Amino acid sequence: MRGYLAAVAGSEPLTPVSRDWARQRTDLEDEVPVVHEETVTGRRYEGDGIRELRIPRFKSVAGRSGDLTQGEWAETALAAAVLADARPVLSPRWKSQQRLTLGRFTPVTHIRVVEIGCVDASRNVLFEGTPEEAHHRYVRMAEARVRAVKAGGDYLPGQGCGACELVDICPAVPSRPGFLGVDSPPARRRSWSMTTARDYRTCPARAHLKDLFLPRAEAAENTPAIVRGQAVHTAIEELHSRSPVRACASTDAPATPEHWRAGRWEVTGFQARLGTQMVGDHALVCPLHELPGDAQVYPERSLVVHDPDADVVVVAKTDLLYRRTDTWFLRETKTVRSLDESDPLLAYPQLALALLLAHEGAVPGTTEEGTTGCRVELERLTGSGPVLTELDGDDGELLAQARRIVTEHATHWHADEEYVARPGKHCETCPVIQWCPSRPEKSAA
Ligand SMILES: [Zn+2]
Repeated sequence: MRGYLAAVAGSEPLTPVSRDWARQRTDLEDEVPVVHEETVTGRRYEGDGIRELRIPRFKSVAGRSGDLTQGEWAETALAAAVLADARPVLSPRWKSQQRLTLGRFTPVTHIRVVEIGCVDASRNVLFEGTPEEAHHRYVRMAEARVRAVKAGGDYLPGQGCGACELVDICPAVPSRPGFLGVDSPPARRRSWSMTTARDYRTCPARAHLKDLFLPRAEAAENTPAIVRGQAVHTAIEELHSRSPVRACASTDAPATPEHWRAGRWEVTGFQARLGTQMVGDHALVCPLHELPGDAQVYPERSLVVHDPDADVVVVAKTDLLYRRTDTWFLRETKTVRSLDESDPLLAYPQLALALLLAHEGAVPGTTEEGTTGCRVELERLTGSGPVLTELDGDDGELLAQARRIVTEHATHWHADEEYVARPGKHCETCPVIQWCPSRPEKSAA
């Protein structure tokens, strides 16, 4: 907030506008007129023939003009055109299924779309010009994209579902009342994953701040072993994304075992050698052996269910979802230096969540006719070789244990409304410490 105020302190005096801005356009679809609405989000200001939209960003926007993506240019052009034709939205905000009631149009001569980096009070003008220029920009940069969005596409549930107003009616997100098994009443809609649970156990404030999608100091979190694990995961994910589908071979392991990278993860020395061995070992237990080239194979697929009793969107990112004849499989791959002989569900609570999701028919495709459910596999790549364990989703006792683990991990988090920080040694590697109200003040000396 301080950064935002500092960034706008120098601007000319404009009056804040409380109503949202939108415009309506009528298109012919199969010769039937259909009204489309376009609206903008951000802070709205007007005065002296100027209409200005300020978009607060968490991150710095200094010098960003050069590296906007095509999507961002399209968004900017759309926003500028909406400003040119803006009418105030009079109807209540959350009646999302109805057409908006708009107020009177007041012409302006000048349009401005500005983004503000709240972290450092930076300011970046995205568009400035006349309404005519805004309309031209829309035709050039936004129209085709708007048409593509209207035409629709596949649903792709994932992390973002937690912030979605429509998740409870989304056809791609199954509703499973009581999935989490918590008894506290629902508060605002939140999303929950095993990462949330782990963060919550470390420090409730960390879980909450990450849930707000605040920018993170990412490097702080990562030990060399974590980086190696991520590099191995990414390397295997890339192999599993090949088209046509092909099983991994031991020759697919990194060619330079002393130093290699996969995606943004770079490893050297001991961790690089261990990682190379793990990727090579994976070939022995690769699930894609003897699958046809057009098999259904989905690496890094997010599974999402909504528990309306808790009003929580449960998100599980799985390593691999694939189909072998009429059975689906969820494969979780873990890299550990030495094998842990303890109960897999306790060691890896994500497996408990995966079992439950598989059992509840929340895995896409598993409820199709002709399929026989979904099995869960744990692949452990260790310093002394690969170990594959299959978990039986029809085993009642195992399922009951999985349910207990999931409920245990969600209960305190769900009932918490304060998210009080629990400062400790973990603060040193906390990725969201800069947002934490309880962070220790640096000594002034
Ligand atoms: Zn493989």
